[in-house]
Amino acid sequence: MEKIRIIQADKYVGKKVKIGAWIANKRSSGKIAFLNLRDGSAFFQGVVVKSEVSEEVFQTAKNLNQETSVWITGTVQEDTRSKFGYEIHVEDIDIIGESHDYPITPKEHGTEFLMDNRHLWLRSSKQHAIMQVRNEIIRATYEYFNKEGFVKIDPPILTGSAAENTTELFHTEYFDRDAFLSQSGQLYLEAAAMALGKVFSFGPTFRAEKSKTRRHLIEFWMMEPEMAFMKQDESLEIQEEYVAYLIQNVLDNCDAALDTLNRDKELLKQYTQLPYPRISYDDAVELLQKNDFDVKWGDDFGSPEETFIAQQYDKPVFILNYPKAIKPFYMKPHPDRDDVVLCADMIAPEGYGEIIGGSEREEDYDALREQILAFDLDIKEYEWYLELRKYGSVPHSGFGLGLERAVTWISGTEHIRESIPFPRLLNRIYP
Ligand code: ATP
Ligand code: MG
Ligand code: MG
Ligand code: MG
Repeated sequence: MEKIRIIQADKYVGKKVKIGAWIANKRSSGKIAFLNLRDGSAFFQGVVVKSEVSEEVFQTAKNLNQETSVWITGTVQEDTRSKFGYEIHVEDIDIIGESHDYPITPKEHGTEFLMDNRHLWLRSSKQHAIMQVRNEIIRATYEYFNKEGFVKIDPPILTGSAAENTTELFHTEYFDRDAFLSQSGQLYLEAAAMALGKVFSFGPTFRAEKSKTRRHLIEFWMMEPEMAFMKQDESLEIQEEYVAYLIQNVLDNCDAALDTLNRDKELLKQYTQLPYPRISYDDAVELLQKNDFDVKWGDDFGSPEETFIAQQYDKPVFILNYPKAIKPFYMKPHPDRDDVVLCADMIAPEGYGEIIGGSEREEDYDALREQILAFDLDIKEYEWYLELRKYGSVPHSGFGLGLERAVTWISGTEHIRESIPFPRLLNRIYP
């Protein structure tokens, strides 16, 4: 008799197997008990028929509590009524660990309660499905960038300087000096791209976001590719191809999870059709003004503006060439005009906001130096970064995709807090 996981059930129809599982739910009558079993790989039904098992086994089944862990022995059978397609006819049950008064019952619970119990909430079918989508996005990311010849490199998490907006920096002590938690690995990635050509990193980043939104985490994971010998136009093509690849792989490999999440698969399919539309920042401002938004040229867009622009299209949209003043110092100005930079944000449909931010980088030594000074940054901290422009500088571009933003959007989840196992939020660092 083989020990299997639920996900393998299709290969064991008619066979006697052993499965380690938890009781997700249970209902029973005088003659039959239905166990909703989960083993981490999937959920499926165990059927205990009174007339087929000993009295002791039937009583054990009837008395099982939610989340008690058990060894189940039985025969796998097809079950055409369930979406999963299989069930197990139970012959024996061995209790491994008892569970009493499990706090998360099948009834509705408030968000704060669920967040306090995040360590248990993760066991629910919805959270299980979201984590499967997250895992698939990570897997497909590695596959995509490996296939395209990128090398994964790991920029440091402790840094001596700020790559982005200094107001969102986490400060820490570094022996007798200051250090900051990484907000983006980009500057280091540029150095790595000069060594390896095409690189990507995938790691945690930290931002002391002072506002509560459904899109911002304090600690989030970012995919950051950086490419030497590459202009912004080419980078946009990689971005859309990569995002379409993620969606296609989730469609191909997470069918059950998408069903659990009630995600509209036809809509997701639509997002795999390339190219994605592009609109300039200038045109976006004009469109917003025509529709009574209170924005003027030079303002950054917030969630209502991004959502409105995204609503004009049936796919993600790129907003190109933002004003230089609202973007980081390293972005390259547009060749025809100095007030905008060669950058783009990819905005997801359905109100999920910015998924990717990217740009072509300033490759000229003097221009970059001027920018560092203009942004009032400590030039000493950027000496190494400037030197990249001194020894064979080349055009190069890159972008960052927020993992949890992608997970939230693709899984159709309402709030980003459910897209990471243990979210860090403005008012929460427990559990
Ligand atoms: P936003 O405008 O939404 O605050 P940003 O422009 O500050 O995002 P970037 O610095 O461009 O973000 O970072 C690249 C990507 O990282 C974003 O496109 C987004 O997908 C993701 N991201 C940024 N901040 C957060 C956050 N606080 N939580 C989760 N993901 C984030
Ligand atoms: Mg931000
Ligand atoms: Mg932004
Ligand atoms: Mg951005």
